[in-house]
Amino acid sequence: MPTAIIVGAGIGGIATSIRLAAKGYQVQVFEANDYPGGKLSEIQVGDYRFDAGPSLFTLPDQVEELFHLAGKNTRDYFAYDVLDVITHYFWPDGLRMKAFAEPEKFAREIQDQTGEPAAQVLKLLAKSREIHEVTNHVFLEKSLHKLATYLDRDTIRSIFQLHKIDAFRTMHQANASYFRDPRLVQLFDRYATYNGSDPYQAPGTLNVIPHLEYHLGAYFPKGGMYQITQSLYRLACDLGVEYHLGQPVDQILVENGRAQGIRVGEDKVAADLVVSNADVVPTYRRLLPDQAAPERTLKQPRSSSALIFYWGIKREFPELDLHNILFGANYQEEFDFIWQRKRIHHDPTVYINITSKYNPGDAPAGCENWFTMINVPHDDGQDWDRLIPEARQNIITKVSQMLDVDLEPLIEAEAILEPRTIQSKTSSYLGALYGSSSNNKFAAFLRHPNFSRKIDNLYFCGGSVHPGGGIPLSLLGARIVGDLVPEG
Ligand code: FAD
Repeated sequence: MPTAIIVGAGIGGIATSIRLAAKGYQVQVFEANDYPGGKLSEIQVGDYRFDAGPSLFTLPDQVEELFHLAGKNTRDYFAYDVLDVITHYFWPDGLRMKAFAEPEKFAREIQDQTGEPAAQVLKLLAKSREIHEVTNHVFLEKSLHKLATYLDRDTIRSIFQLHKIDAFRTMHQANASYFRDPRLVQLFDRYATYNGSDPYQAPGTLNVIPHLEYHLGAYFPKGGMYQITQSLYRLACDLGVEYHLGQPVDQILVENGRAQGIRVGEDKVAADLVVSNADVVPTYRRLLPDQAAPERTLKQPRSSSALIFYWGIKREFPELDLHNILFGANYQEEFDFIWQRKRIHHDPTVYINITSKYNPGDAPAGCENWFTMINVPHDDGQDWDRLIPEARQNIITKVSQMLDVDLEPLIEAEAILEPRTIQSKTSSYLGALYGSSSNNKFAAFLRHPNFSRKIDNLYFCGGSVHPGGGIPLSLLGARIVGDLVPEG
């Protein structure tokens, strides 16, 4: 039986382990942490449970595909609820709006609350669908670095339609062409943050993202986001994948231009192929120190990072739901702070995710678990010990004003995640959430491929390589690796 080693048990590594096991490989996964999931993990703070990282779940069929591939019944492992309201939006001027999952209802809500014609919302969503139809096959589902991709008939058809993907203006310019009300432009500009980008730089192509929410739906896994990790981990174990938790890999062994296995401390483990699910920068710098690194690829600017306060709140807020956004008053300046000044704006847009709304056991009765997050720059040596308490105070003041409450005394439990700890917990270079940023219209081509051009039998998956970060793209990357490796 051919053997494979995967470095890292992030969601991309777990999905790859399932795909290779289903393909006939004997798979071992080595993970530095003593738990699987990487960023997609959970933490307990006092009586409160929190999903540690990702909070929005789209494209559940990508998870289900892994159970089908393994010949298992998804419902024996994993279930989820469909969201009728995706996000509750709050603006500083008092406007409050619900983003209904059903596009017509959402468009009507916008028309009723702002006077912007519902037809404009539906026009934007139709464009979003069109961008998805053109880009999905070329940019997401296949390796961009194999000739066969470009000889495929569907790819050729998509290439002739690339003029439709709005690559030559920014997301912000595209959104401003639909609406006069700046609050709606802000609402749709926000989707740039879904892959750690800046709407004032990123191409309009990223307006593909609303299509995922409003046409394909938003979901919440029963038991919380960590159930995505847990269920796939259990599936992998049932398929015979061996997980070695708490085992950091020190080196990927290469001989005669071919990956031969790994070294963990003094122990060498041989395999027919190696997949790195670790961030591509430390993979080259730490695990392949003697190999020529693709410097241009590794130097691509990183995505933004995040500052999260996991707060146990000893009160319930009926006006809040699972996903809540409290917008800042000056969005452009906020992004200028993140991307140009590499600082945190004094009035940041605040995202509050409350899983206890769906999973009551996540907080004591009468209380809520607030995952309170703002976008911040990746680590650039800032004085985080000064910036974080300042940001905390600004968030508390803002939330208190917008929800008409005195928040500070309600916080009875707290933990913090920030760029430095994101890096130390998951080896994500500079604490970036999504690998390299997608601000450049050529970003898709500048990401590292899912295989090494120089080292045979070495593959890459996860959010720092093609097709990109986030759960759906990390799962697609695993699918591409599964397609690239030879049959076992
Ligand atoms: P990672 O999660 O990066 O894990 C890599 C694993 O490799 C880690 O467990 C690490 O310990 C291990 N590793 C590294 N080096 C070694 C080594 N030498 N030896 C052994 N193991 C090693 N995505 C969404 O889709 N929706 C969201 O709402 C969302 N929100 C987010 C919010 C936050 C706060 C964060 C942090 C991320 C968010 N993301 C979101 C992004 C998403 O979490 C990631 O893109 C995705 O989980 C990346 O998975 P990955 O496969 O790249 O692995």
